[in-house]
Amino acid sequence: MKRAGEFELIDAFVSALPHPRAPQGPGDDTAVLPPSRENLCVTTDALVENVHFSRPAFSLRDIGHKALAVNLSDLAAMGARPTWWLCALGLPKNTTRAQVLALARGMAPLARQHRLALVGGNITSSPVLTLTLTVAGQARRPMLRSGARPGDLLFVSGTLGAAAAGLSLPTPALVAAQKRPVPQVRLGLAAARWASAGIDLSDGLLADLGHLCAASKVGANLRSAALPLHPALPRSPKALQWALTGGEDYQLLVAVPPRHAARLGRAFTRIGEVTRHGGILTLDGARVSPQGFDHFRR
Ligand SMILES: [Mg+2]
Repeated sequence: MKRAGEFELIDAFVSALPHPRAPQGPGDDTAVLPPSRENLCVTTDALVENVHFSRPAFSLRDIGHKALAVNLSDLAAMGARPTWWLCALGLPKNTTRAQVLALARGMAPLARQHRLALVGGNITSSPVLTLTLTVAGQARRPMLRSGARPGDLLFVSGTLGAAAAGLSLPTPALVAAQKRPVPQVRLGLAAARWASAGIDLSDGLLADLGHLCAASKVGANLRSAALPLHPALPRSPKALQWALTGGEDYQLLVAVPPRHAARLGRAFTRIGEVTRHGGILTLDGARVSPQGFDHFRR
């Protein structure tokens, strides 16, 4: 990429996003960030064209939104308050200023909503569009995957299955869930006060529950009738499968000691409980694989 073009694209990108307070970047050789008394929670995630998204199915605004949303979801999973972020873009050679603006405008509403300061980044030429974001937040007591104990109750925020269904059904609400996931930052901050463990649902409920149980050295039982299926899902066995294994819901799964369960509030639905059977997941008492219940059906 030519130097002048690169700087013009950087200016366009930065101009569309909330400006950080001095002495933070961007514009210096590195970002300069003040120390904090709370724990610094940092995550990074890359989105690559034709691996994580395809065009024109996803608009540039959709892509910008989703790149920031999935990183914010990881902060939500920790119960962290978002603070700053870095963004590295890989742009195909003929990328225009308007296209870079569209990416930034897809990110701007989330950045503004969560008071997230862009403190630095990089633009390079690339065979396909790539977005690599590093997002940081602060948490006094981060919600880890490893704290769940037998007897804890399992709760999930929001509804399940819509994003996965949106890949095969053209229903507007389902497609929106796929393209515009909403990171549950506020619920993560609230849940972290009471939860013993938490994770966000990116791979699918069973897979992510498997991660949480492995880290906590516990098992879990889910009740299928309790799962909060998205209201736009068709009434078919497929709906349960999307909810259990579809992925990309970006809701929160938390384990909460029974004495604190009433504190969680109505945004969360109780879906099961933590058991002492390390690594074993059951659905209505029957064993299931983290990859999906079909694998165990004969
Ligand atoms: Mg995660």
